[in-house]
Amino acid sequence: MPIRQELDAKTRWPAAALGSCPPSSHPCQANVHTMAEGDTIHRIARRLSAAIAGRRVLDATVPSPRSPLRGQTARLVGLRGGRLTRAEARGKHLLLHFDGDLALHCHLGMRGAWQVRQPRSKWRRPIGGAWVVLATEGAEGAQFGGTRLALRSEGELRADPRLASLGPDLLDPEFVPSAHLAPLRARSGDRSLGESLLDQSLVSGVGNVYKSEGCFVAGVDPWRAVSELDDTEIGLVLETLRKLMLQGLEGGRRPRQVYRRAGLPCIRCGAPVRSHGQGDANRTTYWCGNCQR
Ligand SMILES: [Zn+2]
Repeated sequence: MPIRQELDAKTRWPAAALGSCPPSSHPCQANVHTMAEGDTIHRIARRLSAAIAGRRVLDATVPSPRSPLRGQTARLVGLRGGRLTRAEARGKHLLLHFDGDLALHCHLGMRGAWQVRQPRSKWRRPIGGAWVVLATEGAEGAQFGGTRLALRSEGELRADPRLASLGPDLLDPEFVPSAHLAPLRARSGDRSLGESLLDQSLVSGVGNVYKSEGCFVAGVDPWRAVSELDDTEIGLVLETLRKLMLQGLEGGRRPRQVYRRAGLPCIRCGAPVRSHGQGDANRTTYWCGNCQR
């Protein structure tokens, strides 16, 4: 899923849309939404840091009646006058830390998105649907939809079991695949590689697109049990995933060699790309039965 940063033709101010794209404007696949994976979340964190961090929050509003923050009015008021001190990506979770011991805990799920608007530029979605709008002197940031948005204290974040259980983030600068081979194998049990890669407690940040693409590029069959893979194969998959996601983070564009290409010829061998639901969540995996062993 590409992450677009465009110039508004009238104002010449850059407006960034970060996360899933409006279906009508997606250049590759109309009416398809893809869950924001780790690269997207890291990119959003970078963008918010550049545009908003250090600036005083003039206002924090919740335009959408469906915003989860509607029940946190007192904490919302507490954001005003404060500053974003750090925007942090942890796997698929986005944590916006403010001074005053408050943090926004965001998860975009399949359809959520963050946008940053510079003065006089336009929102790319109706602002009435925003779950939160943070207005600073220089820029505004807004989250539209998602699966989670909550104002937490730092202590509550530390105690959050969803965050505490996260495995190592593939995009962490200190991530070293070789350090995680044994834990990944031990904790995968008899699960397949494809299913294990989506388990955020094993490694965090991988979603359904990178699961398929990473296994394809590494040439490893996502249906094999992790317990049957050797260290070289697991290491290769993790190295490949990290490389692909770093490309997504820096370039804003994801690989699409097998994902949603079921029935089309494999770009390597010409055999039809296969697809099938995998794991308890039945997330569709795409692979080439000829190239991936
Ligand atoms: Zn093939």
